[in-house]
Amino acid sequence: MDTHVAAARAALERALGADEVLSDPLALRLYARDASMVEGGCALVAFPRSVDDVASCLTIAEEHGLPVVPRGSGTGLAGGATPIGDALVVVTSKMTELLEVRPEDRLAWVEPGLANLDLANALRPHGYTYAPDPSSQQTSSIGGNVNTNAGGPHCLASGVTSAHVLALDVVLPGGGLVRVGSEGPAAAGYDLRGAVVGSEGTLGIVASVCVRLSPLPPAVSTMLLDFTTVEDCAATVSDIIAGGVVPAAVEMMDHGIVVAAENFAHAGYPTDAAAILLVEVDGTDEAVHEQSRAVEDAATANHVRTIRIAADADERALLWKGRKSAFGAVAQIAPHYHLHDCVVPRTKLVEVLSGVYEIVERHGLIVTNVFHAGDGNLHPLISFDRRIPGTMDKVLRAADEIVRLCVDAGGALSGEHGIGLEKRDFMPLVFTADDLAAQDCVRSAFDPGRLMNPQKVLPEGARCGDHAVLRGSDAAEAAASLPEGSWI
Ligand SMILES: Cc1cc2nc3c(=O)[nH]c(=O)nc-3n(C[C@H](O)[C@H](O)[C@H](O)COP(=O)(O)OP(=O)(O)OC[C@H]3O[C@@H](n4cnc5c(N)ncnc54)[C@H](O)[C@@H]3O)c2cc1C
Repeated sequence: MDTHVAAARAALERALGADEVLSDPLALRLYARDASMVEGGCALVAFPRSVDDVASCLTIAEEHGLPVVPRGSGTGLAGGATPIGDALVVVTSKMTELLEVRPEDRLAWVEPGLANLDLANALRPHGYTYAPDPSSQQTSSIGGNVNTNAGGPHCLASGVTSAHVLALDVVLPGGGLVRVGSEGPAAAGYDLRGAVVGSEGTLGIVASVCVRLSPLPPAVSTMLLDFTTVEDCAATVSDIIAGGVVPAAVEMMDHGIVVAAENFAHAGYPTDAAAILLVEVDGTDEAVHEQSRAVEDAATANHVRTIRIAADADERALLWKGRKSAFGAVAQIAPHYHLHDCVVPRTKLVEVLSGVYEIVERHGLIVTNVFHAGDGNLHPLISFDRRIPGTMDKVLRAADEIVRLCVDAGGALSGEHGIGLEKRDFMPLVFTADDLAAQDCVRSAFDPGRLMNPQKVLPEGARCGDHAVLRGSDAAEAAASLPEGSWI
């Protein structure tokens, strides 16, 4: 172990306790990656239990020149929590308290390591919920959700995480504590809360979160619509929204994923369908009735085969179980999957989906699609076995083409998973050198020493002082490639 790492370890043990600091080979390997396909390495792993502990981690890291990678539950799919080099990984999984619930103010304060579903379940007896519901909600942490600006099936009408976070206490590099945002309706001054949400651990460590509570709807209806062509299914999505209805959720699953999810969840999904939609509407009884009619009309106009309406809460839960376990269910197809979560305009869904199938087939790979269709937020899951030589290269080439297809269709790089390492070098496809330099200036203001989650989000060459160099050159070519050996 290098001397500066050994000294940092000793200081961390004094501050946090010896049990809260790991550096054995197994731990370093376990914390070397998130749920993406990119693996790195780290020198130390620390488990703070309080805001003061987090501050100690960042003070000690700065004193000893260690880069810091914040980590919640490690379910990220973009390599955001994948450490590089001799990083200190700061894991919030021991900070799981629900600190305060104030239904009268429609807010709650929570520690960052609390799992999303544990928060929603704790709010239920008060008549409220926390609206963003990533499919990883059983495991993913609120701190991770904040830093990826996570979405979920029920974010279509209510918005992604940024719409549900009022304030954050953030420990800055060096150990200072700041509050961004406010409990009140709007904080004066710059919207630093907005800057921190989705910053993927590059600005500081979120040590507590003030979330907005959403009332549980009085009535809900969940519908499963089944189609004999992907085109009819996708067209129904844009027709529903063009018709003036924004359902609580509109999720699409194609044939391959329907079969895999049904084998796992036994939700009664029609396994001979080309594609299905799960549509949920909520509100008053009257609103639910009206919205359901509009959904049925749009589906009928697009040759829906059957419409199944959940009869009770148990059937509703079963229909959602199939959808929310779909990523796990693809393990039946092959041991590994890779995906990017690009967003395309809803009106381009039919065209982009056929492009996705064409690309993947041309590379001799398998793809299934399960995604937040209402938002146009695609998740093409390429299934493969990386132990077969040459396969990973094919997967990356296909994924690269899919990203470019989506961008060419007027899309965005990420709807919810963030940029991390995996999409970092695509940033120049959608941002100019000046755009990237402006983002880097924000980063430098928070983290002048560049210790927070280095090499993530912004490509090399995006630094404030570097953007003049990039102007006039091909920014995409200037973007550095991923560190050697990081793809596994
Ligand atoms: C099966 C499956 C389904 C998924 N479904 C969805 C979905 O529907 N919607 C969706 O948005 N995502 C989804 N994801 C992706 C992932 O769950 C989300 O990105 C989630 O928000 C990550 O939370 P985490 O606690 O695991 O964060 P991590 O993976 O640990 O970290 C994610 C990023 O946040 C940073 N970070 C974590 N905690 C902090 C903190 N306290 N302070 C500062 N930075 C921090 C990390 O450095 C990293 O950059 C899914 C993933 C899986 C495996």
